[in-house]
Amino acid sequence: MRLILLGAPGAGKGTQAEILSRELKIPTISTGNILRAAMREGTPVGVQARSYVDAGKLVPDEVIIRIVQDRLAQPDCANGFILDGFPRTIPQAEAMEQYGIDIDRALSIEIEDETIVSRMSGRRTCRECSQTFHIVSNPPKQEGICDFCGGKLIIRKDDAPETVRARLEVYHTETEPLKAFYSSRGKLASIDNQSTIEATTAEIRKALEI
Ligand code: AMP
Repeated sequence: MRLILLGAPGAGKGTQAEILSRELKIPTISTGNILRAAMREGTPVGVQARSYVDAGKLVPDEVIIRIVQDRLAQPDCANGFILDGFPRTIPQAEAMEQYGIDIDRALSIEIEDETIVSRMSGRRTCRECSQTFHIVSNPPKQEGICDFCGGKLIIRKDDAPETVRARLEVYHTETEPLKAFYSSRGKLASIDNQSTIEATTAEIRKALEI
């Protein structure tokens, strides 16, 4: 199964990707997580990406395309993968097609901008493993500590309300056109965000017939 998760920042792509990844036993590839790891480690890609990520802007297509190409060539992607946060522009989607990377389904999680802005203010991210939590809807067992690796939970710099608004604008202009792109290829499934994580997963299961 080769899946793409589309949706605004904070729509729940990462959370749903992790659930599907466990269930389908295929890796999730999150370009945001790859970039944050590169930034933390201070690699050349990380240094290049930081100013874009912190401002809520998109990292240049050629940088991201290279990252995804390298990652998809790893053996664990042979039986399928879930792309979380890629493609985010039409040129990125076209590059995938040019490289012969076919996908089965593009799931688009639909949610109102205002729901996102309030939701993002409660998001906490593990500094070590990038796992996300929410102080109300998905709290960690121990406040401020990651359930999975014990790392410290932080508020991502780009989750600040003004940056979230900038990211939403980028989403509407750059990423949302991908819905028409995948719809014209018969690959799009729209999923309405539900009030709980489980209910949204159930909608996705229905769409994927799993
Ligand atoms: P995310 O965790 O998916 O919200 O990504 C965080 C940030 O990483 C984004 O706001 C962008 O700055 C950058 N980023 C992640 N994926 C991409 C992509 N496919 N194209 C360009 N920039 C990206």
